[in-house]
Amino acid sequence: MGLIVQKFGGTSVGSAEKIQNAANRAIAEKQKGHDVVVVVSAMGKSTDALVNLAAEITSEPSRREMDMLLSTGEQVTISLLAMALQEKGYDAVSYTGWQAGVRTEAVHGNARITDIDITAIRSQLAEGRITVVAGFQGVTEDGGITTLGRGGSDTTAVALAAALEADKCDIYTDVPGVFTTDPRYVRSARKLAGISYDEMLELANLGAGVLHPRAVEFAKNYQVPLEVRSSTEHEAGTLIEEESSMEQNLIVRGIAFEDQITRVSVTGLASGLTTLSTIFTALAKRNINVDIIIQTQSDDGEADISFSVKTEDAAQTVAVLEEYKNALDYEKIETERKLAKVSIVGSGMVSNPGVAADMFAVLAEKNVQVKMVSTSEIKVSAVVSENDMVKAVEALHNAFELSKQPSAV
Ligand code: ASP
Ligand code: MG
Repeated sequence: MGLIVQKFGGTSVGSAEKIQNAANRAIAEKQKGHDVVVVVSAMGKSTDALVNLAAEITSEPSRREMDMLLSTGEQVTISLLAMALQEKGYDAVSYTGWQAGVRTEAVHGNARITDIDITAIRSQLAEGRITVVAGFQGVTEDGGITTLGRGGSDTTAVALAAALEADKCDIYTDVPGVFTTDPRYVRSARKLAGISYDEMLELANLGAGVLHPRAVEFAKNYQVPLEVRSSTEHEAGTLIEEESSMEQNLIVRGIAFEDQITRVSVTGLASGLTTLSTIFTALAKRNINVDIIIQTQSDDGEADISFSVKTEDAAQTVAVLEEYKNALDYEKIETERKLAKVSIVGSGMVSNPGVAADMFAVLAEKNVQVKMVSTSEIKVSAVVSENDMVKAVEALHNAFELSKQPSAV
């Protein structure tokens, strides 16, 4: 007998019928003799609906009140799921984040979990109850309600699994697992049997929406075995663990991509020691996330800097740079919009030099111009034109043979 944490995302609890289905999944584990904790998201797109509702009242809602509002979404689901379980003859109880002891730092809208007091959940489990917990929310030391950032229910589930030392955390969703790339764009994309925490973290950060990056971080830090699986099909999903034993012979495990990227170039900068810090501190203060940064220095002492930002932040980025025109003393700013980032990810890269070279060769052969590059030990990202994005992903997916079923080792 063990302890299982299950998490159901918004689409998997989007109607009364789907809530019944989630209840059946919880009951199936309970019948095997496990203790069961279920974490749920808000129903369907109800969080979006709440965001839109707030926008009808004010363009600048207070972050505290936003958290108060958004946390209601999950509260609807926990009560309905507990009722569904009771209706099916099972003892169940629902808990909001604060009732479940999920404590967070005092950052409204994007709080990190600091610790979880599992006393209440433990005593419910000891009574044999299925405990249903609201995802995405917590409480500060002063009793304020916080949320964990969009998609944060995954993080609640994994953090609870870590705190309760669960045997497993199952993330039930509307896709059957983690794919080699997005199957909506590449038809030969294949569901992976397994993937490592590090690879999953890269993919999640690079735009694969299947898991909240912080949830993967938690899972890695506490070594929680995670499985992403379908809430409708009864089949194995994708196991996320320290080292995937099931997909050994793949050097590249997955391809992530993201459009709506803009390259900003600042040329003719008087290159002082503080130039870089001035630019990036100013952008950070406005909460503009800068991704790839390239600096080149010419002999005459001038410097050029290019960096990429999300297109939605491009206008504000330029405005900030213009504000600092005097301090930075540059010649001009140029922006190139309609770019995309295509990234290949795989732990096998560490021990296989030349993967980046292969990637560039494939892109060159398809006439895809690479505009920026960034690498880590286990990934290579290339910024290309948005028009080339899908072509590039398809070509790389073929070249690295990602659709082939690898043999288990
Ligand atoms: N309901 C929240 C959202 O839509 C949290 C989650 O679903 O994970 O972002
Ligand atoms: Mg999600």
